[in-house]
Amino acid sequence: TSEPVRLPERAAIVDLAAIRHNVGVLAKVAAPARVMAVVKADGYGHGAVPVARAALAAGASWLGVAHISEGLALRAAGIEAPILAWLHTPDSNFSAAVAAGIDLGCSGWELERIVAAAREQERPARVHLKIDTGLGRNGATADRWDSLVGEAVEYQDEGLLRVVGVFSHLAVADEPQRPETDEQLAAFRDAVALAEDAGCDLEVRHIANSPAVFSRPDAHFDLVRTGISVYGLSPFAGQSAADLGLRPAMTLRATLSQAKRVPAEHGVSYGLLYKTPGESTLGLVPLGYADGVPRVSDRGPVRIAGETYRVAGRVAMDQIVVDLGPDADPDAFAGAEAVLFGSGEEGGPTAEDWARAAQTISYEIVTRISPRVPRFYV
Ligand code: PLP
Repeated sequence: TSEPVRLPERAAIVDLAAIRHNVGVLAKVAAPARVMAVVKADGYGHGAVPVARAALAAGASWLGVAHISEGLALRAAGIEAPILAWLHTPDSNFSAAVAAGIDLGCSGWELERIVAAAREQERPARVHLKIDTGLGRNGATADRWDSLVGEAVEYQDEGLLRVVGVFSHLAVADEPQRPETDEQLAAFRDAVALAEDAGCDLEVRHIANSPAVFSRPDAHFDLVRTGISVYGLSPFAGQSAADLGLRPAMTLRATLSQAKRVPAEHGVSYGLLYKTPGESTLGLVPLGYADGVPRVSDRGPVRIAGETYRVAGRVAMDQIVVDLGPDADPDAFAGAEAVLFGSGEEGGPTAEDWARAAQTISYEIVTRISPRVPRFYV
Protein backbone atom coordinates (compact mmCIF):
# COMPACT_ATOMS: atom_id res chain seq x y z
CA THR A 1 0.00 0.00 0.00
CA SER A 2 1.29 3.47 -0.82
CA GLU A 3 1.61 6.27 1.71
CA PRO A 4 -1.34 8.68 1.64
CA VAL A 5 -0.47 12.05 0.08
CA ARG A 6 0.31 14.53 2.87
CA LEU A 7 -1.11 17.93 2.06
CA PRO A 8 0.49 21.10 3.40
CA GLU A 9 -1.47 22.40 6.41
CA ARG A 10 -2.58 25.32 4.25
CA ALA A 11 -2.73 24.89 0.50
CA ALA A 12 -4.21 25.98 -2.78
CA ILE A 13 -4.57 22.61 -4.43
CA VAL A 14 -4.64 22.86 -8.22
CA ASP A 15 -6.27 20.02 -10.10
CA LEU A 16 -4.43 19.87 -13.43
CA ALA A 17 -6.88 17.26 -14.72
CA ALA A 18 -9.58 19.92 -14.30
CA ILE A 19 -7.45 22.37 -16.33
CA ARG A 20 -7.09 19.76 -19.07
CA HIS A 21 -10.82 19.02 -18.98
CA ASN A 22 -11.70 22.72 -19.26
CA VAL A 23 -9.33 23.29 -22.17
CA GLY A 24 -10.90 20.28 -23.88
CA VAL A 25 -14.36 21.84 -23.43
CA LEU A 26 -13.13 25.18 -24.77
CA ALA A 27 -11.39 23.59 -27.75
CA LYS A 28 -14.64 21.87 -28.68
CA VAL A 29 -16.81 24.97 -28.28
CA ALA A 30 -14.33 27.20 -30.11
CA ALA A 31 -13.50 24.84 -33.01
CA PRO A 32 -12.37 25.40 -35.67
CA ALA A 33 -10.83 28.39 -33.88
CA ARG A 34 -7.82 27.53 -31.74
CA VAL A 35 -7.37 28.20 -28.03
CA MET A 36 -4.97 30.61 -26.38
CA ALA A 37 -4.76 29.83 -22.66
CA VAL A 38 -4.36 33.11 -20.81
CA VAL A 39 -1.87 32.49 -18.00
CA LYS A 40 -1.12 36.04 -16.86
CA ALA A 41 -1.09 36.87 -13.14
CA ASP A 42 0.63 33.55 -12.44
CA GLY A 43 -2.06 31.61 -14.21
CA TYR A 44 -4.86 33.52 -12.41
CA GLY A 45 -3.18 32.47 -9.17
CA HIS A 46 -2.95 28.80 -10.12
CA GLY A 47 0.71 28.80 -11.23
CA ALA A 48 1.53 29.89 -14.79
CA VAL A 49 4.00 27.15 -15.71
CA PRO A 50 2.05 24.06 -14.58
CA VAL A 51 -1.17 25.49 -16.02
CA ALA A 52 0.52 26.33 -19.32
CA ARG A 53 1.90 22.80 -19.63
CA ALA A 54 -1.48 21.24 -18.80
CA ALA A 55 -3.32 23.54 -21.21
CA LEU A 56 -0.89 22.81 -24.06
CA ALA A 57 -1.18 19.07 -23.40
CA ALA A 58 -4.97 19.36 -23.63
CA GLY A 59 -5.02 21.13 -26.97
CA ALA A 60 -4.35 24.82 -26.40
CA SER A 61 -1.91 26.06 -29.03
CA TRP A 62 -1.10 29.55 -27.73
CA LEU A 63 -0.34 31.17 -24.37
CA GLY A 64 -1.32 34.73 -23.51
CA VAL A 65 0.18 37.01 -20.88
CA ALA A 66 -0.03 40.70 -20.08
CA HIS A 67 3.63 41.46 -19.40
CA ILE A 68 6.75 40.49 -21.33
CA SER A 69 8.29 39.39 -18.00
CA GLU A 70 5.50 36.81 -17.66
CA GLY A 71 6.29 35.48 -21.13
CA LEU A 72 10.01 35.31 -20.35
CA ALA A 73 9.26 33.21 -17.24
CA LEU A 74 7.41 30.70 -19.43
CA ARG A 75 10.32 30.56 -21.87
CA ALA A 76 12.77 30.15 -18.96
CA ALA A 77 10.75 27.10 -17.90
CA GLY A 78 11.37 25.60 -21.33
CA ILE A 79 7.94 26.27 -22.86
CA GLU A 80 8.28 26.71 -26.62
CA ALA A 81 4.65 27.30 -27.66
CA PRO A 82 3.65 30.63 -29.25
CA ILE A 83 3.27 33.32 -26.57
CA LEU A 84 1.63 36.72 -26.93
CA ALA A 85 2.36 39.55 -24.45
CA TRP A 86 0.09 42.58 -24.83
CA LEU A 87 0.64 45.12 -22.07
CA HIS A 88 3.76 47.23 -22.25
CA THR A 89 5.31 50.39 -20.90
CA PRO A 90 8.20 52.38 -22.31
CA ASP A 91 10.40 50.49 -19.82
CA SER A 92 9.38 47.04 -21.08
CA ASN A 93 12.17 44.82 -22.33
CA PHE A 94 11.19 44.50 -26.00
CA SER A 95 14.65 43.20 -26.94
CA ALA A 96 14.35 40.27 -24.55
CA ALA A 97 10.90 39.51 -25.96
CA VAL A 98 12.17 39.48 -29.55
CA ALA A 99 15.17 37.35 -28.55
CA ALA A 100 12.83 34.89 -26.80
CA GLY A 101 10.45 34.72 -29.76
CA ILE A 102 7.55 36.24 -27.85
CA ASP A 103 4.86 37.86 -30.00
CA LEU A 104 4.09 41.44 -29.07
CA GLY A 105 0.79 43.28 -28.97
CA CYS A 106 1.13 46.76 -30.41
CA SER A 107 -1.29 49.65 -29.97
CA GLY A 108 0.87 52.19 -31.80
CA TRP A 109 3.37 53.83 -29.48
CA GLU A 110 5.31 50.57 -29.08
CA LEU A 111 6.06 50.24 -32.81
CA GLU A 112 9.31 52.23 -32.79
CA ARG A 113 10.57 50.37 -29.74
CA ILE A 114 9.68 47.00 -31.22
CA VAL A 115 11.52 47.90 -34.43
CA ALA A 116 14.56 49.05 -32.44
CA ALA A 117 14.52 45.72 -30.59
CA ALA A 118 14.31 43.81 -33.90
CA ARG A 119 17.30 45.77 -35.24
CA GLU A 120 19.25 45.06 -32.06
CA GLN A 121 18.43 41.35 -32.13
CA GLU A 122 18.82 41.13 -35.94
CA ARG A 123 15.59 39.23 -36.02
CA PRO A 124 12.13 40.31 -37.21
CA ALA A 125 9.64 40.93 -34.42
CA ARG A 126 6.28 39.16 -34.56
CA VAL A 127 3.56 41.71 -33.94
CA HIS A 128 -0.21 41.59 -33.32
CA LEU A 129 -1.71 45.01 -34.00
CA LYS A 130 -4.39 45.94 -31.50
CA ILE A 131 -7.47 47.96 -32.36
CA ASP A 132 -9.55 49.61 -29.63
CA THR A 133 -13.04 48.67 -30.83
CA GLY A 134 -14.69 50.25 -27.80
CA LEU A 135 -13.17 49.07 -24.51
CA GLY A 136 -11.15 52.23 -24.07
CA ARG A 137 -7.99 50.57 -22.85
CA ASN A 138 -5.05 49.73 -25.08
CA GLY A 139 -5.34 49.44 -28.84
CA ALA A 140 -5.28 52.07 -31.56
CA THR A 141 -8.47 54.08 -31.90
CA ALA A 142 -10.23 53.75 -35.26
CA ASP A 143 -8.91 57.10 -36.53
CA ARG A 144 -5.30 55.94 -35.94
CA TRP A 145 -5.71 52.44 -37.38
CA ASP A 146 -5.01 53.25 -41.01
CA SER A 147 -1.73 54.98 -40.24
CA LEU A 148 -0.60 52.33 -37.73
CA VAL A 149 -1.17 49.59 -40.30
CA GLY A 150 0.66 51.66 -42.94
CA GLU A 151 3.70 52.20 -40.71
CA ALA A 152 3.79 48.55 -39.65
CA VAL A 153 3.63 47.37 -43.28
CA GLU A 154 6.56 49.65 -44.18
CA TYR A 155 8.67 48.06 -41.44
CA GLN A 156 7.43 44.67 -42.57
CA ASP A 157 8.67 45.42 -46.10
CA GLU A 158 12.07 46.28 -44.59
CA GLY A 159 12.15 42.85 -42.93
CA LEU A 160 12.06 44.27 -39.39
CA LEU A 161 8.74 42.81 -38.34
CA ARG A 162 5.90 40.59 -39.36
CA VAL A 163 2.31 41.55 -38.66
CA VAL A 164 1.00 38.11 -37.77
CA GLY A 165 -2.14 39.11 -35.89
CA VAL A 166 -4.87 41.68 -35.45
CA PHE A 167 -6.73 41.66 -32.16
CA SER A 168 -9.08 43.52 -29.86
CA HIS A 169 -10.79 42.97 -26.50
CA LEU A 170 -14.49 42.94 -25.66
CA ALA A 171 -16.08 45.10 -22.97
CA VAL A 172 -19.45 43.50 -22.22
CA ALA A 173 -19.32 39.94 -23.54
CA ASP A 174 -20.33 38.70 -20.07
CA GLU A 175 -23.68 40.48 -20.58
CA PRO A 176 -24.85 38.86 -23.82
CA GLN A 177 -28.00 40.97 -24.10
CA ARG A 178 -26.04 44.21 -24.50
CA PRO A 179 -25.71 45.67 -28.00
CA GLU A 180 -22.14 47.01 -27.76
CA THR A 181 -20.58 43.64 -28.65
CA ASP A 182 -22.17 43.82 -32.11
CA GLU A 183 -20.63 47.25 -32.60
CA GLN A 184 -17.22 46.02 -31.43
CA LEU A 185 -17.35 43.04 -33.78
CA ALA A 186 -18.31 45.22 -36.75
CA ALA A 187 -15.41 47.58 -36.00
CA PHE A 188 -13.08 44.58 -35.65
CA ARG A 189 -14.10 43.13 -39.03
CA ASP A 190 -13.38 46.52 -40.66
CA ALA A 191 -9.98 46.73 -38.97
CA VAL A 192 -9.04 43.22 -40.08
CA ALA A 193 -10.12 43.93 -43.66
CA LEU A 194 -8.06 47.12 -43.76
CA ALA A 195 -4.94 45.33 -42.48
CA GLU A 196 -5.35 42.51 -45.00
CA ASP A 197 -5.88 44.93 -47.87
CA ALA A 198 -2.72 46.75 -46.80
CA GLY A 199 -0.64 43.59 -47.18
CA CYS A 200 -0.71 41.92 -43.76
CA ASP A 201 -0.62 38.15 -44.14
CA LEU A 202 -2.38 37.40 -40.86
CA GLU A 203 -1.97 34.10 -39.04
CA VAL A 204 -4.57 34.96 -36.43
CA ARG A 205 -7.48 37.32 -35.87
CA HIS A 206 -8.70 37.29 -32.25
CA ILE A 207 -11.16 39.15 -30.05
CA ALA A 208 -13.04 36.55 -27.96
CA ASN A 209 -12.52 36.16 -24.21
CA SER A 210 -14.19 33.41 -22.13
CA PRO A 211 -17.73 34.80 -22.18
CA ALA A 212 -17.61 35.34 -25.95
CA VAL A 213 -16.50 31.75 -26.49
CA PHE A 214 -19.79 30.57 -25.00
CA SER A 215 -22.15 33.34 -26.12
CA ARG A 216 -20.79 34.66 -29.43
CA PRO A 217 -19.69 32.08 -32.02
CA ASP A 218 -19.41 34.98 -34.47
CA ALA A 219 -16.56 36.34 -32.32
CA HIS A 220 -14.36 33.24 -32.47
CA PHE A 221 -12.39 34.12 -35.64
CA ASP A 222 -9.10 32.12 -35.68
CA LEU A 223 -8.21 32.10 -32.00
CA VAL A 224 -9.98 32.62 -28.67
CA ARG A 225 -8.15 34.07 -25.66
CA THR A 226 -9.57 32.22 -22.70
CA GLY A 227 -8.60 32.86 -19.11
CA ILE A 228 -11.18 32.34 -16.39
CA SER A 229 -12.84 29.37 -18.10
CA VAL A 230 -9.49 27.51 -18.28
CA TYR A 231 -9.52 27.62 -14.49
CA GLY A 232 -13.04 26.22 -14.41
CA LEU A 233 -14.88 29.36 -13.35
CA SER A 234 -17.84 30.92 -15.07
CA PRO A 235 -17.43 34.30 -16.75
CA PHE A 236 -21.17 34.99 -16.34
CA ALA A 237 -22.84 36.27 -13.17
CA GLY A 238 -25.96 34.21 -13.80
CA GLN A 239 -24.42 30.88 -14.84
CA SER A 240 -22.26 28.56 -12.79
CA ALA A 241 -19.18 26.67 -13.92
CA ALA A 242 -21.20 23.45 -13.81
CA ASP A 243 -23.82 25.00 -16.14
CA LEU A 244 -21.03 25.46 -18.70
CA GLY A 245 -19.50 22.01 -18.18
CA LEU A 246 -16.41 23.46 -16.49
CA ARG A 247 -14.62 22.13 -13.40
CA PRO A 248 -13.10 24.60 -10.90
CA ALA A 249 -9.40 23.75 -10.65
CA MET A 250 -8.42 25.41 -7.38
CA THR A 251 -9.30 24.23 -3.88
CA LEU A 252 -8.34 26.49 -0.99
CA ARG A 253 -8.03 24.44 2.19
CA ALA A 254 -6.45 24.42 5.62
CA THR A 255 -6.32 22.20 8.65
CA LEU A 256 -8.20 23.72 11.62
CA SER A 257 -5.69 25.16 14.05
CA GLN A 258 -8.03 24.79 17.01
CA ALA A 259 -11.60 23.93 17.99
CA LYS A 260 -12.76 25.19 21.36
CA ARG A 261 -15.81 25.56 23.52
CA VAL A 262 -17.01 29.08 24.39
CA PRO A 263 -19.97 30.35 26.44
CA ALA A 264 -23.03 32.16 25.08
CA GLU A 265 -22.57 35.79 23.98
CA HIS A 266 -18.83 35.28 23.39
CA GLY A 267 -17.49 37.86 20.95
CA VAL A 268 -15.52 36.70 17.91
CA SER A 269 -12.66 38.50 16.13
CA TYR A 270 -11.82 42.22 15.88
CA GLY A 271 -14.71 44.54 16.51
CA LEU A 272 -16.65 41.74 18.25
CA LEU A 273 -19.15 41.89 15.40
CA TYR A 274 -20.25 38.29 16.01
CA LYS A 275 -21.52 36.96 19.34
CA THR A 276 -22.25 33.29 19.89
CA PRO A 277 -26.03 32.86 20.23
CA GLY A 278 -25.55 30.17 22.90
CA GLU A 279 -22.76 28.01 24.28
CA SER A 280 -20.91 26.86 21.19
CA THR A 281 -17.78 25.43 19.57
CA LEU A 282 -15.57 27.73 17.51
CA GLY A 283 -13.31 26.41 14.78
CA LEU A 284 -10.20 28.46 13.89
CA VAL A 285 -9.11 28.31 10.25
CA PRO A 286 -5.54 29.53 9.60
CA LEU A 287 -6.31 31.50 6.43
CA GLY A 288 -6.79 35.27 6.50
CA TYR A 289 -6.62 38.37 4.38
CA ALA A 290 -2.82 38.10 4.08
CA ASP A 291 -3.52 34.80 2.34
CA GLY A 292 -5.98 36.50 0.00
CA VAL A 293 -9.28 35.82 1.78
CA PRO A 294 -11.23 39.05 1.23
CA ARG A 295 -11.60 40.94 4.51
CA VAL A 296 -14.66 42.69 3.23
CA SER A 297 -16.90 39.71 2.74
CA ASP A 298 -20.26 38.83 4.13
CA ARG A 299 -19.99 35.57 6.02
CA GLY A 300 -18.16 33.58 3.33
CA PRO A 301 -18.74 29.81 3.27
CA VAL A 302 -16.38 27.24 4.80
CA ARG A 303 -16.92 23.51 4.34
CA ILE A 304 -15.91 21.27 7.25
CA ALA A 305 -16.74 17.57 7.51
CA GLY A 306 -19.45 17.76 4.87
CA GLU A 307 -21.25 20.79 6.37
CA THR A 308 -21.10 24.36 5.13
CA TYR A 309 -20.51 26.94 7.86
CA ARG A 310 -20.16 30.72 7.57
CA VAL A 311 -17.31 32.94 8.67
CA ALA A 312 -18.15 34.40 12.09
CA GLY A 313 -16.95 37.96 12.62
CA ARG A 314 -14.16 39.73 10.78
CA VAL A 315 -11.59 38.05 8.59
CA ALA A 316 -8.23 38.71 10.28
CA MET A 317 -4.76 38.78 8.73
CA ASP A 318 -3.97 35.14 9.42
CA GLN A 319 -7.22 33.47 10.35
CA ILE A 320 -10.96 33.23 10.23
CA VAL A 321 -13.34 31.74 12.76
CA VAL A 322 -16.41 29.61 12.14
CA ASP A 323 -19.13 28.81 14.65
CA LEU A 324 -19.46 25.03 14.56
CA GLY A 325 -22.59 25.16 16.71
CA PRO A 326 -23.69 24.01 20.17
CA ASP A 327 -23.47 20.29 19.52
CA ALA A 328 -19.99 20.14 17.95
CA ASP A 329 -17.47 18.16 19.98
CA PRO A 330 -14.20 20.11 19.82
CA ASP A 331 -12.15 16.93 20.03
CA ALA A 332 -13.89 15.58 16.95
CA PHE A 333 -12.90 18.69 15.00
CA ALA A 334 -9.24 18.75 16.03
CA GLY A 335 -7.19 18.67 12.83
CA ALA A 336 -10.30 18.66 10.61
CA GLU A 337 -10.04 19.99 7.07
CA ALA A 338 -11.67 23.32 6.21
CA VAL A 339 -12.33 24.10 2.54
CA LEU A 340 -13.12 27.70 1.64
CA PHE A 341 -13.73 26.89 -2.00
CA GLY A 342 -13.14 24.07 -4.43
CA SER A 343 -14.73 21.98 -7.13
CA GLY A 344 -18.27 22.57 -5.89
CA GLU A 345 -18.96 18.84 -5.90
CA GLU A 346 -21.31 17.50 -3.24
CA GLY A 347 -22.59 21.00 -2.57
CA GLY A 348 -19.23 22.39 -1.47
CA PRO A 349 -18.54 26.12 -1.80
CA THR A 350 -16.87 27.57 -4.89
CA ALA A 351 -14.82 30.67 -5.68
CA GLU A 352 -18.04 31.99 -7.24
CA ASP A 353 -19.73 31.74 -3.82
CA TRP A 354 -16.85 33.69 -2.26
CA ALA A 355 -17.11 36.25 -5.06
CA ARG A 356 -20.76 36.81 -4.15
CA ALA A 357 -19.93 37.07 -0.44
CA ALA A 358 -17.24 39.67 -1.21
CA GLN A 359 -19.26 41.48 -3.90
CA THR A 360 -16.59 40.84 -6.49
CA ILE A 361 -15.88 38.42 -9.32
CA SER A 362 -14.27 34.99 -9.10
CA TYR A 363 -11.30 36.36 -11.10
CA GLU A 364 -10.37 38.49 -8.08
CA ILE A 365 -10.85 35.67 -5.57
CA VAL A 366 -8.39 33.29 -7.23
CA THR A 367 -5.81 35.81 -8.46
CA ARG A 368 -5.47 37.24 -4.95
CA ILE A 369 -4.59 34.00 -3.17
CA SER A 370 -1.21 35.15 -1.95
CA PRO A 371 2.22 33.55 -2.31
CA ARG A 372 2.05 32.64 1.42
CA VAL A 373 -0.33 29.82 0.49
CA PRO A 374 1.64 26.94 -1.02
CA ARG A 375 0.38 25.67 -4.37
CA PHE A 376 0.03 21.94 -4.51
CA TYR A 377 -0.58 20.10 -7.79
CA VAL A 378 -2.64 16.97 -8.18
N1 PLP B 1 -7.62 38.91 -23.49
C1 PLP B 1 -7.18 39.98 -22.79
C2 PLP B 1 -6.55 41.11 -23.53
C3 PLP B 1 -7.32 40.02 -21.41
O1 PLP B 1 -6.89 41.08 -20.72
C4 PLP B 1 -7.94 38.93 -20.75
C5 PLP B 1 -8.15 38.95 -19.29
O2 PLP B 1 -8.62 39.87 -18.70
C6 PLP B 1 -8.39 37.84 -21.50
C7 PLP B 1 -8.21 37.86 -22.88
C8 PLP B 1 -9.07 36.65 -20.86
O3 PLP B 1 -10.33 36.99 -20.36
P1 PLP B 1 -11.22 35.91 -19.60
O4 PLP B 1 -10.49 35.57 -18.35
O5 PLP B 1 -12.52 36.58 -19.36
O6 PLP B 1 -11.32 34.73 -20.52
